[in-house]
Amino acid sequence: MEIKITNVSKYYYSGGKTIKALDNVSLSIPANQIFTLLGPSGCGKTTLLRCIVGLESPDSGEIEIGGDVVLSTEKNIFVPTENRGLGMVFQTYAIWPHMNVFNNVAYPLQTRKVPKDIIRSKVEKTLRFVQLEGFEDRPATKLSGGQQQRVALARALVAEPKVILFDEPLSNLDAKLREETRKDLRVFLTELACLSDRTSDHRDLCDP
Ligand code: ADP
Ligand code: MG
Repeated sequence: MEIKITNVSKYYYSGGKTIKALDNVSLSIPANQIFTLLGPSGCGKTTLLRCIVGLESPDSGEIEIGGDVVLSTEKNIFVPTENRGLGMVFQTYAIWPHMNVFNNVAYPLQTRKVPKDIIRSKVEKTLRFVQLEGFEDRPATKLSGGQQQRVALARALVAEPKVILFDEPLSNLDAKLREETRKDLRVFLTELACLSDRTSDHRDLCDP
């Protein structure tokens, strides 16, 4: 799905100062592409992702996802996060330490009140996909960094979002694991784009 960002500004106020985290940002992200935001620390990458996902409320601007306006300060539109159909994987995996792998991945479906048997089959399918089959009962804290990252990925994928946002998902992994996981991630995303809609224009990912 295309994401269109038009004139988005987000200011923070701290210690009597105004911090212009986003200053009139406009960009379009085409559908079915892996699109990367690059820039130095503090330039506003996380803030932009949080605005897209609905965790921040911009001071001005408009955001469209797949043709639907999810934010418009002018038209007074703010679609809450849970209705934007997005998945997000954060820099710190943000998986719940008190839950096992199954419950971490099942959580987005449980909050949507999906029937239990469907939850079970979707979680199992997603865990197979991220190669964590058989880890269902493992406490989340008893996993390696790479495995925790896969749990976070599975949780972002389980509700079959049309867009997944990643905020430096590999920066907490050591160099070797980062390289491996980067490759895996590309394979996962390519498969996902190919599976998700065979009729739409997904050639960018499916036929690199
Ligand atoms: P990046 O992800 O590119 O490193 P951020 O989006 O996290 O950058 O931050 C952009 C700017 O906004 C930085 O100057 C940062 O200090 C500031 N900032 C981010 N979050 C807050 C906040 N909650 N309160 C005040 N300032 C913030
Ligand atoms: Mg950041």
